[in-house]
Amino acid sequence: MKILNTIENLGENFFEYCEPSAAKNPSLIHFNSELAKELDLELSDDQILSVFSGKERFVDSKSKALIYAGHQFGHFNPQLGDGRAHLLFEVESKNKEHFDVQLKGSGVTKFSRRGDGLSSIGPVIREYILSESMHRLNIKTSRALCAVRTGDQVYRDDVLPGAIFTRVADSHIRVGTFEYFSSRYLFDDLKELANYTIERHYPNLINENERYLKLLDQFAYKTLDLVASWMGIGFIHGVMNTDNTSICGMTIDYGPCAFMDEFKHDQVFSSIDRNGRYAYNNQGQIALWNISVFASAIFPLIKEEYSGNEKELIEFIQIRFKEYENYFEHKHHQIMLKKLGLNFSEKNDYLIVESLLNYMESNKLDFTNTFKNIEQNIFITDDFKNKWMDSLDKQNIHHDDAKEIMSKVNPYYIPRNHQVEKAIQSSIAGDDSYFFRVLNALENPFEYNSENDFLAVLPDDNERVRQTFCGT
Ligand code: AMP
Ligand code: MG
Repeated sequence: MKILNTIENLGENFFEYCEPSAAKNPSLIHFNSELAKELDLELSDDQILSVFSGKERFVDSKSKALIYAGHQFGHFNPQLGDGRAHLLFEVESKNKEHFDVQLKGSGVTKFSRRGDGLSSIGPVIREYILSESMHRLNIKTSRALCAVRTGDQVYRDDVLPGAIFTRVADSHIRVGTFEYFSSRYLFDDLKELANYTIERHYPNLINENERYLKLLDQFAYKTLDLVASWMGIGFIHGVMNTDNTSICGMTIDYGPCAFMDEFKHDQVFSSIDRNGRYAYNNQGQIALWNISVFASAIFPLIKEEYSGNEKELIEFIQIRFKEYENYFEHKHHQIMLKKLGLNFSEKNDYLIVESLLNYMESNKLDFTNTFKNIEQNIFITDDFKNKWMDSLDKQNIHHDDAKEIMSKVNPYYIPRNHQVEKAIQSSIAGDDSYFFRVLNALENPFEYNSENDFLAVLPDDNERVRQTFCGT
């Protein structure tokens, strides 16, 4: 076990030391022992409960709430920060990778504003299921290490059981962390943060010149890769604010996120996303917007190391953004075509996906099952079948090879909203067995197992979840 403490070196402009409020009477919901093993973490059963309920400090690291700002639904908020989260410690995994271990729902911090710093059990169950499922679907994401009931009540629209979630991420640095320092003209801190980010997440840039410009580039590509991968599984993050945008291109801050059942281009589930800013098909544009916010935040650093004049630099960055836009389109189309076993070599290749998605939308077909059906030769129409066969022929791809490729990217099982909701409701009522069942069933989403088929079934009308809530 190797515990690290690198954030501390950044200094107290970046965080506030603050202890979690201990849960009075904690009880374990779930501990991810497989992940703990990967992280080389050794804890006794008693320690698991006391450390991940905020009762006992693990090793020497002092817990911290991190500072950040961020654009929320397009509007700048100069002061956010971990309002209900505590960074407990950092750890080096067996593979020598560096992770943050953080509690969420663990009490007030300096950044809680009017919030109570708590979480009810619903968002904890949701994040546990969704983040673990995303990992199994090969999407870069924070992971779930532990969930406990606090034994206390949390007051929302209802009185609900309180819970604490322990998540593990490559780090919790966000675009909003950069915005915090940049908007306050704290350029020394901004540079320190950028250097820390490079050392921790982009070490290939350490000895490069014009490294902040390259940081922008690499952050952009990672973020666009991530969002394109969301599109491929029908995932809608729901709150792509810049404070929820990880600097290392991983999915973080699961709120009212959801997977689509029936395909709809502009599907929105989040109750707070009234204008559809974060709709399914808007996620690429929003990622680009968030990247532009990052570019503005680190512009002073880029400018400092640039040899030409400012006007030139701005034009240069504008050209980079055209490049990012093309990159996303390419990546997105490539991922969608792969779901049909096809390659992307030119723009027209994508027409088959476009017509399939349009057909799916008009006929209210399920996103996940439709792709799986096509892989298994269950065609939506003869016309589509012919088009698909022609496309395979044109690209010289054998049907069996296409199926092989498709089977690796088209899951059987996703965390359908109504099943997540059912797990939440049953955990609220005190029974976690349905949560365990769903979690278990999502472990091998690309392998058929008749016991897990309940996750491939669409909701009845009375089970259908039309909106999801932050619930914080
Ligand atoms: P989110 O959009 O859920 O990522 O949260 C946005 C901001 O609100 C972050 O700064 C959170 O720390 C803060 N926040 C959300 N819920 C609470 C809560 N229950 N208590 C205190 N702060 C919260
Ligand atoms: Mg957040």
